[in-house]
Amino acid sequence: MKRWSRKPLTLRVLILVFVLLAALATLGNSLYVAYTVQRSALIHSTLEANRAYAAKVASSISEFIHSAQRNLAFSANILAAHQGDHAVLRAEAMRLQSQDTYFNSIAVVDAQGKVLEAYPDSLQIVGTTLRSVGVQQALQLKRPTVSQAYVSIAGNLVVFISQPIISPSGEYLGLVGGSVYILKQSVLHTIIGSHFHHEGTYAFVADANRRLLHHPEAQRVGELLKDNPTVESALRGETGSMEVQNTQGMEMLAGYAQVPEANWAVVAQKPRDLSLAPLGLLMKDMFFGLIPASLLGVLLIWGGALLITRPLRQLAYSAERLSAPETPGELRAINTWYREAAAIRQALLTGVGLMQQKLGRLSQEAQSDALTGLANRRALSAALITLEQSALPYAVLLLDIDHFKQVNDSWGHDAGDEALRQVASVLRDSSRAEDLACRSGGEEFVLLLPGTSLEAARSIAERIRETVAGTLIPQVGKVTLSIGVAESGGTSRPSDAVLKQADQRLYSAKQAGRNRVVSSDAP
Ligand code: GH3
Ligand code: MG
Ligand code: MG
Repeated sequence: MKRWSRKPLTLRVLILVFVLLAALATLGNSLYVAYTVQRSALIHSTLEANRAYAAKVASSISEFIHSAQRNLAFSANILAAHQGDHAVLRAEAMRLQSQDTYFNSIAVVDAQGKVLEAYPDSLQIVGTTLRSVGVQQALQLKRPTVSQAYVSIAGNLVVFISQPIISPSGEYLGLVGGSVYILKQSVLHTIIGSHFHHEGTYAFVADANRRLLHHPEAQRVGELLKDNPTVESALRGETGSMEVQNTQGMEMLAGYAQVPEANWAVVAQKPRDLSLAPLGLLMKDMFFGLIPASLLGVLLIWGGALLITRPLRQLAYSAERLSAPETPGELRAINTWYREAAAIRQALLTGVGLMQQKLGRLSQEAQSDALTGLANRRALSAALITLEQSALPYAVLLLDIDHFKQVNDSWGHDAGDEALRQVASVLRDSSRAEDLACRSGGEEFVLLLPGTSLEAARSIAERIRETVAGTLIPQVGKVTLSIGVAESGGTSRPSDAVLKQADQRLYSAKQAGRNRVVSSDAP
């Protein structure tokens, strides 16, 4: 199975991800809100337009009926004053039919329904008794009427508009009325078509029997409507709008109104999908309109995030290499322009100071080696514990004088001591403030190098070896060193293990002929 190490995310990446998510969420939300608002606005305006259209058509039909009634009433008065005068009867019938082009035929009928006069003559109904629903209804009511739609003698779908003829003495003499075609060159068609309406909107008219008097699909005229909520509302005398399904199950935005004179319903409607068609285009415009602002927003926030994270990134960089001598200087140079960053910087500076102080104090205060003045083994142990606790990486040099027994044997113990002091002096000169040079016993030394890589430690070791080899020691001449180098590495190994590794490499150096540095394990 493949193991992949997961790198911790940086603050910058995290902020970028959240900024993008926030921008996307805002954009999505704006579009959603705009969509719902625009959608309901479109629906509302269509409903309102259709309500107004239906009301206008209804009032025009009312106006037409009123005008027809007025003309008939005028004739009814004349006819009442000239009872039995055939010439007057005929003249009025002709006048009405020619004056009012919407009347297809005119009839003057007595109280029993017998036709006294009719025009045009082609009807040939004079003397017959009219049994049509429209005429019978008007004779019963004895008042101005508009009949429901019915099929006339001539086979046409008509409505009958009539006025009673009342004698000056108040006697009911009959009626004068005109039939209006519903289907052929329908007056309704002319009235409805004369009003402005939105594309896709159409109007239909139904009478109190729910029979269609007008519909843009001419073949549907005469059809009976069932359970149409708009028609029902209009027939109750209401004017308004609602969302309904048409007979094909299509969602419709409908306005409705009543023609009170005839109790007809006028409905104007438009398919909802057609009304919402502009929505797609609106949303597209909105989307492209929002993009520049969103991008600008993301850039601004991203810029701000970079500014805010900058001190933190620099602090983190320094925190990873606290022991480096240049770290305090770098920390002081960071522009911590807000409180939290300033507090972290202060804490890091204090920490670095404390650590360096502690290491330094150990090298000075711990009992030092009497002969050489270097730190002794105890100081070394304490320093190693501090390094272990701080988890700082470090390198260690183990140095041993070659054939030192011979030096003592050849030149005496005092000369040997002098050689030890000379080597110690080279070590002291080669170490930095934070390093720890130590005589670990006999003719063995340890140099502790915090924050130093193996490679750097190796070159330090090499330099020390060369310097010692080139130093002339009074009475003794020259001595050489074998050196083993090891580093603690990224993972905090116990210092025992590091020292042991350095010792093994020192042993390798001895085995390989002495006067050399070994910094890797023998192959
Ligand atoms: P190698 O190259 O293998 O290290 O050989 P060596 O002779 O240096 O090693 P060995 O351990 O055999 O000898 C170490 C000698 O160091 C023995 C001892 O006399 C001497 N020695 C230890 N402490 C002191 C000291 O304080 N002063 C002096 N003058 N000699 C010391
Ligand atoms: Mg030795
Ligand atoms: Mg030795």
